[in-house]
Amino acid sequence: MSFIHLEQVSKFFSNSLQPAVDALDLKIEQGEIITLLGPSGCGKTTTLRMIAGFEQPSMGKISIGDQVVYDDHRSLPPEKRGIGMVFQDYALFPHLTIEKNVMFGLNKWKTKDRKLRAIEVLELVGLADYASRYPSELSGGQQQRVALARALAPRPHVVLMDEPFSNLDAGLREKMRFDVTNILRKANTTAIIVTHDQKDAFAVSDRVVVMKDGVIQQVASPREMYRCPKNCFVAQFVGKTNLLTGKLEKDMKHVTTTIGTVCLPNQTTEICETVKLSIRPEGCEIVAEGTGNYCGKVERVTYSGEYQELYINFQSNSSSDPMVIYAPIDQEIEIGSVVSFNIKSDLVCVVE
Ligand code: ATP
Repeated sequence: MSFIHLEQVSKFFSNSLQPAVDALDLKIEQGEIITLLGPSGCGKTTTLRMIAGFEQPSMGKISIGDQVVYDDHRSLPPEKRGIGMVFQDYALFPHLTIEKNVMFGLNKWKTKDRKLRAIEVLELVGLADYASRYPSELSGGQQQRVALARALAPRPHVVLMDEPFSNLDAGLREKMRFDVTNILRKANTTAIIVTHDQKDAFAVSDRVVVMKDGVIQQVASPREMYRCPKNCFVAQFVGKTNLLTGKLEKDMKHVTTTIGTVCLPNQTTEICETVKLSIRPEGCEIVAEGTGNYCGKVERVTYSGEYQELYINFQSNSSSDPMVIYAPIDQEIEIGSVVSFNIKSDLVCVVE
């Protein structure tokens, strides 16, 4: 049995005919770190708030551990669900020291135990030496670790985090992704994190749940989701890709497209004449002129620092978007030149 189970959970707000969350089914195992990922308004926060008990579903059932926390309008209050919450703005009390902020969630514990537990979790997040400071005397990353310590202090079954990295600058964000994952693993806590940032989601999660318009599009590990996105939306949301439509050949292994014939990986494909392909830019490898299976004219080059992005136009395909492929940074490539390339079939995927 799964640790957290959402069964056909829907949420209608009174001001809209469209559900904010639509018949969501999701199983989460104990100790897993799961991310709800999707564009603004897709229903991530509403899902998180229904699990926390701050929002009531219109339909469906939610279980956490061995407790049914919501079913048929019977709802367990948030404080009885064994949940620790980390809010986007951390919501620390400015007038309390770090230690007192952490102790705040332990008001039912004995005073001696509260203090010991606060020190224990501050040690876990690496801030035991900061116990007597106030939140304003800490950096953004440190404040976030305090918020996580406070959420973990009562030993919750699950920690919920809403956009935990959005207030941090790029450098700190990378460090905090690592720190937060480490702390959650050490605490052996199940966690559900909401983000609209694919990099955050991929860096911290065991599995990612991509949502659109209140509906789950795919649940998969970051690697699987990147390599085998289920549909065009997921393929584009989790990274750059080229979407091509083509005709599936009778051997079921090749697809004829406007840029040429593309070889499929060992993927089971439904028998249908027209298929859509997602081809990742790094799946295209530039080779010596005239030796590749595909060639096109370079329309634009942008430098990312780690590689160059080449936007390639094909004569046969001039009305479509250019195809984007990556080239090593040291390769001299001129706009207007013709490049020859091959496509690695393991970065090609048939999508819905
Ligand atoms: P964001 O990343 O912008 O926070 P989200 O994916 O978390 O977006 P939600 O906040 O869950 O999305 O919102 C889903 C939909 O429900 C949106 O259309 C939103 O306008 C609507 N919604 C959310 N809360 C309410 C509310 N209290 N009353 C009415 N509509 C709401």
